[in-house]
Amino acid sequence: MRRKTPSVKIGNINVGSGHPIVVQSMTNTDTADIDKTVEQIAALSRAGSELVRITVNNHEAAQAVPAIIEELDKQNISTPVIGDFHYNGHVLLTKYPECAQALAKYRINPGNSDTKGRDTNFTTIIEQAIKYDKPVRIGVNWGSLDQNLLTEMMDANSKSANPLSARQITINAMIESALRSAMLAEEIGLGHDKIIISAKVSGVQDLIEVYRLLAGKCDYPLHLGLTEAGMGAKGIVASTAGMSVLLQEGIGDTIRVSLTPKPGGDRTEEVLVAQQILQSLELRSFVPQVTACPGCGRTTSTFFQKLADDIHKYIRENMPLWRVQYPGVEEMNVAVMGCVVNGPGESKHANIGISLPGTGEDPKAPVYIDGRLSQVLKGGNIAEEFQKILTDYVAKNFSEKR
Ligand code: SF4
Repeated sequence: MRRKTPSVKIGNINVGSGHPIVVQSMTNTDTADIDKTVEQIAALSRAGSELVRITVNNHEAAQAVPAIIEELDKQNISTPVIGDFHYNGHVLLTKYPECAQALAKYRINPGNSDTKGRDTNFTTIIEQAIKYDKPVRIGVNWGSLDQNLLTEMMDANSKSANPLSARQITINAMIESALRSAMLAEEIGLGHDKIIISAKVSGVQDLIEVYRLLAGKCDYPLHLGLTEAGMGAKGIVASTAGMSVLLQEGIGDTIRVSLTPKPGGDRTEEVLVAQQILQSLELRSFVPQVTACPGCGRTTSTFFQKLADDIHKYIRENMPLWRVQYPGVEEMNVAVMGCVVNGPGESKHANIGISLPGTGEDPKAPVYIDGRLSQVLKGGNIAEEFQKILTDYVAKNFSEKR
């Protein structure tokens, strides 16, 4: 059961417990490079990112924002674009009103404002949000926590009869920083339903603890994610482990998987991972799922691995069109299995399943449709024939719902 929150409208996307959990991502281009930034936002959007954040770190970036949004409009890409501000957001949002207007939301890190002028910085950004009717995310981060607040809480703890650990105080300080900032934003005049909160850390157990505490202390929608999740399997597994526990408890209204791409790697991977987390938890459906067995000594050829991979790619490639033409297709399950041991059984549970011949088995592949044996494929064109059966099934079963 989702934790109850107000709805926060970000452009054409609603975030909160009354709406599906939203997938978001962030560009890693130089925002001042309009063409590259537009290209990456478009790619992230096509991959399924429902919100995209860009850094607005200097004057050139702030000046580029209106042109970026204009170009996205020309390409019919309506994905809301969020500006990420640190240190100088108060200057940039005031000096460049077209930037302030074009962005769909502002992300503010309360720890990254000048310590001396902190209230001034924060107040100015909130005033701009009120002026342009934009929501904000108050995004506290373990690596850039408000040092004055942390020192204040550490001092108070040292005088306590039962002092807490430094880790616990840091977690408490993150929550306190987020909630004090949100309260201040509301005092300035920002609506309660214009605030989203995040408190990102890089450890899985810390993430779970900080969000559980935060969720119990406020009703703002929460943005979940590990900060600096890392590369490859480590980043994917750590993000999945931490977020799954929280999502299962109903905590989290938007998510991001902060993967470090390989040099030249594909930024859209983080979107696919975020979607897969939600789909594996059966919280949302984005794309038909391909169930494939891991293979073992009973199937020594790589044919079934290749077929599973080809079907997976074929579905992904067709989804932009299928999503429009065949609503509901994202709920479909396809099974590609390596031999007779679990093949027919697993295939029968899928909408469409194929059980390939294992080593030494008859060279034939039974295909099951909606739990029933439909036909048996033989010969050298099994992959092509199965792809055609899949395409026909999608057209027959999902087009009627248009
Ligand atoms: S279905 Fe067959 S090939 Fe696949 S893992 Fe099971 S026994 Fe091995």
